[in-house]
This record gives sequence, C-alpha cells and structure tokens, in this order.
Amino acid sequence: MQFNNNHIKNNLNLLGIIGHPIKHSYSPLMHNLSFEINNLEYIYLPFDVPISELKNAIKGVTALGMTGLNVTVPHKERILPFLHDVSEEASVIGAVNTIHNDNGTLRGYNTDVHGVSVSLEKYKERLSDAEVTVIGAGGGARSVLYSLIRNFRVRRINIVNRTIEKAESLKEYFNAKMHFEKIKTYELTPPDLIEIFSRSTLIVNATAIGMSPDIDDSPTEIPESFNENQIVFDLVYNPIGTKFLSLAQSRGAETVNGLTMLVEQGAKSFEIWTGTEMPKEQILSALKSSIEQE
Ligand code: NAP
Repeated sequence: MQFNNNHIKNNLNLLGIIGHPIKHSYSPLMHNLSFEINNLEYIYLPFDVPISELKNAIKGVTALGMTGLNVTVPHKERILPFLHDVSEEASVIGAVNTIHNDNGTLRGYNTDVHGVSVSLEKYKERLSDAEVTVIGAGGGARSVLYSLIRNFRVRRINIVNRTIEKAESLKEYFNAKMHFEKIKTYELTPPDLIEIFSRSTLIVNATAIGMSPDIDDSPTEIPESFNENQIVFDLVYNPIGTKFLSLAQSRGAETVNGLTMLVEQGAKSFEIWTGTEMPKEQILSALKSSIEQE
C-alpha cells in the first residue's frame, strides 16, 4: 500500500487548541473548513495538554514554528506568564483564549470579548445606563463583564453564581481593574431572585447550565423571571435553543443564542492568525447543522 502525502504541503501552517480534558470542540471544524473555503495552507488540531505540560507546550509553539493556538479550560489564566505580550482586554480580564506566534513573539488576546460585543451590538442603546444580571463567575462571565462595562457602559451589574465566593472575588476584581463599583452579588437561588431578574434589562447565562446533555436544566425555571422588555442572552450554544431561552421567549423577551459569539470569537482569532476574513455565513450554517445533528 502506498502512502499518499499530496495533501501535506511543505509550507503548511500549524494551529490548534489546547485544553484539559479537551472536550468535543467545534473550533477544528470552524477553522479547517474556513481554510478550505479560503484556500489557505493551514491545519488546526486539538491537543490535550495537562497543566503540568503547559510550559513545554508553549515552548513547542515557538520551537515548531506554529502560527498560534486557541486556549481553553483550564489554561486560560495560567497561560499569561508564558506570553511576551498581552492585549489590553486579555490583561484586564486576566484570561487569554488566542495566542499568535508573531515571528517568535507570543502575543495573547481574548476574542470572547469581541464575540460578546457583536452578539449584543444591536441592543447598544438599550443597554447604555441599564441594570443587567450575569449568571456565572467563570471565564465566560469575565468576558461578558468586560464587554458590558467597556463597550455598553451599563449602569449596574448583578453577578449571580452557585458559589457566592467566586462572585465576590469577581466583583473585587472588576472594582480594582476597571474601577467599576456598581456590582452586587447573589447566590443562585432562583425563587429569591425574581425581582432582580425581572428588573434587569439584560440577563446573561454564562454558566454551563442547560448545555447538552442536560438540556432540561435552566438557571431559572420561573417564568416570572422574564418579561417583554428584556434581552436574554445564553452563552451555551449546544443546544442552540436552550430551555433558558425558550422560557424567556415564551414571556415575550428578545433572545440571543451562543452561536453568534462562537463564530465571532473564532472569526477574530482567524483574522489575527491569517490576516483574512472567516467566511462567517458558511461557517455559521455548518456549525448549526453539526450541532443539530448531534
Ligand atoms: P467556567 O470558567 O468553568 O465557569 C463555569 C460557570 O458555570 C461557573 O460560574 C460555575 O459555577 C457555573 N456552573 C457550572 N455548572 C453549574 C451547575 N450545575 N449549577 C450552577 N452553576 C454551574 O466555564 P466558562 O468558560 O465560563 O463557560 C461557561 C459556559 O459558557 C459553557 O457552557 C461554555 O460552553 C459557554 N461559553 C460559550 C462561549 C461561546 O462562544 N458561545 C464562549 C465561552 C463560554 P461555580 O463557580 O459555582 O462552579
């Protein structure tokens, strides 16, 4: 049997995603399909990198001349000391999801912020000076908070989380880093939060609640949490229509799913690495059918 290596070009550029465990990710599909459509000599692979190997993996990026990486849980914060340069938003948030190897200089970015900002762009006027609620206190919540403070200039933020200490430390963090003092924290106990939810112009789910296979879960099951004056945004993109969003929709709220954020954060990374635009429409419909077929 003969090995056919016609598809492996000498000038192939290597990209990938590191995480641990590296769960099913849509990034390889999104980027490899974009390279194919744009006729670019790149390949994007998933790498399972335990915390103990993170430093070596980063050394490998320069040693192998890789173009860059996406970074996911649990490395987003730990990666910062290994980079030469970190963008303003990544430095304020304290988390990097994209690395670019710029001729040996490793630059870090947080493109999730861009994904959040594009997802909410059309509500800019309504969000200015508004009270909003963010459920969650992890990496996703950090990019939401940064975008809401910097780009949407909201007035007051309620952070709701299962572990109240994490919400508290996020509040302290954004007080210190962005001098934003109008943050209140609450434990995630939905019946006590109806009033807070219902007076919020925007409610964001930045937790994994409702993500496949737990599609019958929602951060709140109480219909009165929602009303027709609200915008409700779920970072979860699998399923595309979560229980949280359908409850909000049934009460007349406007809803935003996590798919736009997924594509936009990927498109921004793609642009940083290749200097070209991702074919977003085609990628959106490919991701949609892949998620729906699962
Ligand atoms: P993370 O850093 O691990 O944070 C997870 C958050 O979810 C924490 O606040 C955690 O609360 C909460 N949580 C998890 N399971 C829970 C449960 N059963 N009950 C109550 N709270 C629970 O994760 P992340 O990176 O922020 O991601 C959060 C979600 O956003 C995931 O579904 C992810 O897929 C999605 N996401 C989407 C995009 C996109 O492009 N659309 C981008 C980033 C993230 P505790 O603090 O109490 O543990």
